[in-house]
Amino acid sequence: MIAIENLSKWYGQFQVLTDCSTSVAKGDVMVICGPSGSGKSTLIKTVNGLEPFQQGTVTVDGISVGAPATDLPALRARIGMVFQNFELFPHLSVRDNLTLGQTKVLGRGLDEATARGLKYLERVGLLAQQDKYPNQLSGGQQQRVAIARALSMDPIAMLFDEPTSALDPEMINEVLDVMVGLAQDGMTMMVVTHEMGFAKRVANRVVFMDHGRILEDCSKDEFFGAPRSDRARDFLARII
Ligand code: ADP
Ligand code: MG
Repeated sequence: MIAIENLSKWYGQFQVLTDCSTSVAKGDVMVICGPSGSGKSTLIKTVNGLEPFQQGTVTVDGISVGAPATDLPALRARIGMVFQNFELFPHLSVRDNLTLGQTKVLGRGLDEATARGLKYLERVGLLAQQDKYPNQLSGGQQQRVAIARALSMDPIAMLFDEPTSALDPEMINEVLDVMVGLAQDGMTMMVVTHEMGFAKRVANRVVFMDHGRILEDCSKDEFFGAPRSDRARDFLARII
C-alpha cells in the first residue's frame, strides 16, 4: 500500500534522508524508531506529501506522492495523521473538530459527518466530551479526539508521529490502548514511537533509523531478538 524507494532528501546542504527504502502492506503495523534527529518525522511526512524530497519515489495506493500532477490534498484526505502535539482546532468544540474535515474536504452532509464522528468518539471512550473545547480536555483525551477525527475520514492508512511523547505518563496507555485496538482491527499503520511495549504488542515490522538511513527493517521478533546493527543494539539497551 505504501512503497518508499531509494528516498533521499536534503535541507539545503544537509542530507536528512539517505537512500531509504521500505514498504508497508495493507494491515501492516510498522513501528519506526531511532535516536532523536535520525529522520523519522521527515520520513513519515513524505508519505502524505508534507515533506517534499529530491530523490527516489514514494507511492501510496498506486499514487506517486512526488509527481507534479498528484493532487496532494486529495491524497492527504485519505491518510490519517496524528502528531505529537494533538493539533486540534482550539476554537472548535470536539464535535466540530470531528465534522469539519468530513464536511469541507469530503463534502459529507453535517448529519452524516456528525454520526460518523460520534461513532469514533465513542470508540475512543469520549462520547460524553463532545461539547467541550480542546483546552478543557487532558492531553490524553485530546490525542484520542485527534485519532477519532482522523478515523472519521475513513483513512486507508494511519500515520502516527510520536503520539504519546508529549503526554504525562499516566495518559500514555489510554492513547496506546486505542492504537492497539486499531492495529488489531487491521488498520494499516506507520507509527514513530519509542514505546517498545506497543511495538512488542502489535507491530509486525520494525524499522530502525540512524542519521537518515534505515539500518534495520525486519520483523518484531528479529528486531527485539537479534538486531543486526550495533546502533540498534545500543539504542535498545538504552531505552528498554
Ligand atoms: P526525528 O524525527 O528522528 O527526531 P527529524 O526528521 O525531525 O528527526 O529531523 C532529522 C534531521 O533533520 C535533524 O537533524 C533535524 O535537525 C533536521 N531538520 C528537521 N527539519 C528541518 C528543517 N525544516 N530544516 C533543516 N533541518 C531540519
Ligand atoms: Mg520526530
